[in-house]
Amino acid sequence: MEKRGGTPSPSPRSTEKSGKDLTRSGDANGGAGAGGNATPKGDKEKGVNVQVILRCRPLSDDETKGNTPVVISCNERRREVAATQVIANKQIDRTFAFDKVFGPSSKQKDLFEQSISPIVHEVLEGYNCTIFAYGQTGTGKTYTMEGGGTRKAKSGELPTDAGVIPRSVRQIFDILEAQCAEYSMKVTFLELYNEEITDLLAPDEPRFPVLPVPEDKNKKPIALMEDGKGGVFVRGLEEEVVYSAGEIYKILDKGSAKRRTAETLLNKQSSRSHSIFSIT
Ligand code: ADP
Ligand code: MG
Repeated sequence: MEKRGGTPSPSPRSTEKSGKDLTRSGDANGGAGAGGNATPKGDKEKGVNVQVILRCRPLSDDETKGNTPVVISCNERRREVAATQVIANKQIDRTFAFDKVFGPSSKQKDLFEQSISPIVHEVLEGYNCTIFAYGQTGTGKTYTMEGGGTRKAKSGELPTDAGVIPRSVRQIFDILEAQCAEYSMKVTFLELYNEEITDLLAPDEPRFPVLPVPEDKNKKPIALMEDGKGGVFVRGLEEEVVYSAGEIYKILDKGSAKRRTAETLLNKQSSRSHSIFSIT
């Protein structure tokens, strides 16, 4: 997970270490699927407002039943992760440091409160912020960003397994409501698959199926455009207005159903589906 304060607005915080390999330089993946970033920090990167946070999910029931060996150990206090690899009967341990480490028993609420909530505050101060979840398929990106399977909780509260997106939306509403501010929130949701962009919130059917409309007027072409300030944006995306945090699940479900992540033998190992959820 990383936070970028890229163009056009800067971000107020910066960081010194992120995913640094403490034992040697080189790749952090090491077959561990931890999604670490072990690029050595050069002068060029100084002052870049990126934080790298590692989260390690618990073993699934199947993995427990199959006695899957645990090769990652997290030290939250030291903000370090140790990966164990056995190559040619030799055990090789490597340790990586991150800005923050969340171990297998970490809760959605703790991750949000400690690492995401400050970023949401920065958004409301006018900064552009990005939370980016990176990792091998099955490591817990969707769980962390969207949440577990629970979609409903009692009395308008979010379920305990709600992820970063619904919690961020709720925090934004809570703060703005407390300020009695006048506001509106819009979201977009797109998928990048094999270098192609799909609008996950676009209606399936043409908007006006009764009257035939000339093709070019009916279809909203999606285009990747440069904004002239060094940034990039996607033109023609469906924007959905959101009125409550709970409502976000309707949008996540609608979008997720359209993603091309249905399990096949191939994408079980490597899904090429990436998605971007934006809140304005
Ligand atoms: P990804 O999106 O990275 O491919 P998922 O988020 O779909 O991975 O996670 C794979 C499986 O592991 C899912 O069944 C998810 O519910 C479960 N999972 C992931 N992270 C956690 C966690 N922190 N606690 C419990 N279960 C998790
Ligand atoms: Mg996923």
